[in-house]
Amino acid sequence: AFDVLVVGAGPAGAAAAVYAARKGIRTGIAAERIGGQVLDTMAIENFISVPYTEGPKLAGGLEQHIKAYEVDVMSLQKASKLIPAKEPGGLIEVQLENGASLKSRTVILATGARWRQMNVPGEDEYRNKGVAYCPHCDGPLFKGKRVAVIGGGNSGVEAAIDLAGIVAHVTLIEFDSQLRADAVLQRKLASLPNVRIVTSALTTEVHGDGQKVTGLTYKDRNSDEVHRVDLEGVFVQIGLVPNTEWLKDAVALSPRGEIEADFRGATSVPGVFAAGDATTTPYKQIVIAAGEGSRAALSAFDYLIRLPAA
Ligand code: FAD
Repeated sequence: AFDVLVVGAGPAGAAAAVYAARKGIRTGIAAERIGGQVLDTMAIENFISVPYTEGPKLAGGLEQHIKAYEVDVMSLQKASKLIPAKEPGGLIEVQLENGASLKSRTVILATGARWRQMNVPGEDEYRNKGVAYCPHCDGPLFKGKRVAVIGGGNSGVEAAIDLAGIVAHVTLIEFDSQLRADAVLQRKLASLPNVRIVTSALTTEVHGDGQKVTGLTYKDRNSDEVHRVDLEGVFVQIGLVPNTEWLKDAVALSPRGEIEADFRGATSVPGVFAAGDATTTPYKQIVIAAGEGSRAALSAFDYLIRLPAA
């Protein structure tokens, strides 16, 4: 059995594994893809102390860092169930989709999240070529350009306000007949001169010239008329879905499915900690996930040294 078993190997899981292994305790890490969302990213300009890097390179760095220590790395493994210990300090079980079962005295959940996609033509083709999901990450790449934000909930309206300060013009497109964001955000948005709000609109296609985005079309849901908007960027803000479906019956989740974790990364289950995008932590970012992963590992170690001697 492990002392620390990390599930997920994005920035949060990788940091947790490195911190745990450096304590000289038996550490394992099981994940579908080493690197996580970082693998889907191109330019990264906000991982502090690295002015510019690219997703695949950073993901390679995460893997190299894990493998620099004595860590049992199990990649291409999907966890399907967590079974808490029968008695305090007992072994926690993580079952894998392939039928195997792993046991550990502590578990760190770092399974991340995925952005909900529009699933329209052009979205996949122009991902990282104008189609973006993270305004904190990619906003500055569109300085002086025209963008659309898809989604009028809090994250969409926050993104539009944020981007309006950087880009030339923002078109906010909402499917419903009204925005769903908090009133204070809507008032702020309405006060901005370079934002146009379009409601009752279904985005139907992202257009490009083969290299990068050149526009999008949406259908007016009242008149069925189709409109084209010329622009350089599309920020999709229709939801970030935590990869926690497999944990539903095991640990406390928020109404959005995020793992409830406290400021030490502790979950509702003793010995089970969590970090990164899968949790209730605000602001989903690489540097934050990595910080939380290291913190969760230190919390797990702290938990272990307090267990009665076996
Ligand atoms: P993730 O990176 O999502 O990693 C989750 C890990 O868990 C993966 O290893 C995955 O395979 C694994 N996993 C999931 N489910 C299971 C399961 N059931 N069993 C086993 N393993 C599982 N942030 C920035 O700071 N700067 C940027 O420039 C930036 N750009 C981005 C661009 C894009 C296109 C995207 C999608 C995100 C971007 N982000 C950026 C956000 C950043 O990537 C995330 O905040 C960060 O990767 C979260 O780290 P994490 O370790 O919590 O989760």
